[in-house]
Amino acid sequence: MKFLKSFFSSEQKKNLDKGLSKTKSSIFSKLSRSIAGKSKIDNEVLENLEDVLITSDVGVETSNKIVSSIIKRVKKEKYLNTNELDHILKDQILNIIYESSNEENSEILSDEKLNIILVVGVNGVGKTTTIGKLANFYKNINKKVLLGAADTFRAGAIDQLKIWAKRAKVEIIHKEMGSDPASVAYQTIQYGVSNNHDVIIIDTAGRLHNKINLMNELSKIKRVVSSIASNCVIDVTLVIDGSTGQNAFEQAKQFSETTNVNSLVVTKLDGSAKGGVVIGISDQLKIPIKFVCLGESIDDIQVFDKKIFVNSLFNNWRSEDKVN
Ligand code: GDP
Ligand code: MG
Repeated sequence: MKFLKSFFSSEQKKNLDKGLSKTKSSIFSKLSRSIAGKSKIDNEVLENLEDVLITSDVGVETSNKIVSSIIKRVKKEKYLNTNELDHILKDQILNIIYESSNEENSEILSDEKLNIILVVGVNGVGKTTTIGKLANFYKNINKKVLLGAADTFRAGAIDQLKIWAKRAKVEIIHKEMGSDPASVAYQTIQYGVSNNHDVIIIDTAGRLHNKINLMNELSKIKRVVSSIASNCVIDVTLVIDGSTGQNAFEQAKQFSETTNVNSLVVTKLDGSAKGGVVIGISDQLKIPIKFVCLGESIDDIQVFDKKIFVNSLFNNWRSEDKVN
């Protein structure tokens, strides 16, 4: 199933604009300061640009890559005005996000198979909240959704997911706190398979400080899942908190080294100035970002569309260009 741009309501675009406003003003105020009084894109401007990107949480490697490609362009075109810098930057950022995506990444859901989504991530990043939002999102496109409360580790985690299930009006399978997460997953999948659910979302406890445990737990859940559901797509979705900037990046790196992460959800982009992290993560990890979250309510989730994202970042700045 693919989501096209038309899927975005103007309300959603507004929310994205609002959510990214701090990131935007942080990047562009630094950028204007760094080019103040300069008309030509020269070495100094490029060095400053690299600093702006790095301090905006884009990450060292990606910032480097962006600036290198601008240097190439500057060399080719000999004279480039600083007025054009944001336009050129926009192009490069778009390219970089594009490079790490492919057609397959725009698939949000399989229409033919049972979709099992294992949600992982460290405590507090927004896993349970995101699951509630996802449940509501999929339900609204007529999918039969089931939740599994396999975070049996943290007090309150099961009740929290139950509240979200109620809000999204979807079913939930849960056992008592301290139960084996894999057995909750097993029961959930079994129920989902026999009741023809389309999407099963499983909450897990994020215990990154114990990688071996996490890895073992996840592979056990995966084994259990594949043993009962044959015609299914298992998507390990890592949730990261965008407001933590480089920390989010590090978490994503560590998780993807330990487990096979298929997709990312970046939360808490609302009111954070660290939205630049989305660019670096997308470039460095080559894991598709499927959704971004911009608030605590059930509707504060959007399919990640790089063009819409980059447009929102650059819109109403100096350049009014639209990415086509
Ligand atoms: P978990 O430990 O990973 O399951 O995280 P939770 O879902 O319990 O969320 C932790 C906190 O982050 C809660 O207070 C949520 O309301 C909040 N939260 C989650 N997503 C977002 C978001 O996109 N924006 C904001 N502002 N807060 C969020
Ligand atoms: Mg939780």
